[in-house]
Amino acid sequence: MTLLERDPQAPPVWLDNLPITNRYTFGLAGDRFFRALAEESKMLGTHCANCNHTYVPATSFCERCLGKLDDWVDVGTVGQVHTFTILYKDVDGSTRQSPEIIVFVRIGDGGIVHKLNGIEPDAVTIGMQVEAVFKPKAERKGNILDIAYFRPVT
Ligand SMILES: [Zn+2]
Repeated sequence: MTLLERDPQAPPVWLDNLPITNRYTFGLAGDRFFRALAEESKMLGTHCANCNHTYVPATSFCERCLGKLDDWVDVGTVGQVHTFTILYKDVDGSTRQSPEIIVFVRIGDGGIVHKLNGIEPDAVTIGMQVEAVFKPKAERKGNILDIAYFRPVT
């Protein structure tokens, strides 16, 4: 099928499989960040005193001055909604049973993209405080999904 033969009413997706295998490594800073997340329910950043900038998730080098970063800081598990979007459709174009809220949570001078639960979509506001809700420790795997979702701080 060519683009000219494409059904204009079809959702803008092409479902198929890609035979790709690869392995992504977190690197030294990412490894420490995700271990702290899984084992201690903490989010760590690294601070560059030269630039007065705290990277979240933690990084090994400052992208501004290229300095090595070894000042680790516990940035807590609360951040602010920097921006968000609401998903009404699934990846296959079908309508979701309930909308899903995806937020960029600002933490330190960085942040994390994740789900926001515990609030109606029309009640989400930029700048609202949200906190990470972790999975039970037995279910954690050392990745960002060890945070089950964020929820509004009450
Ligand atoms: Zn720097």
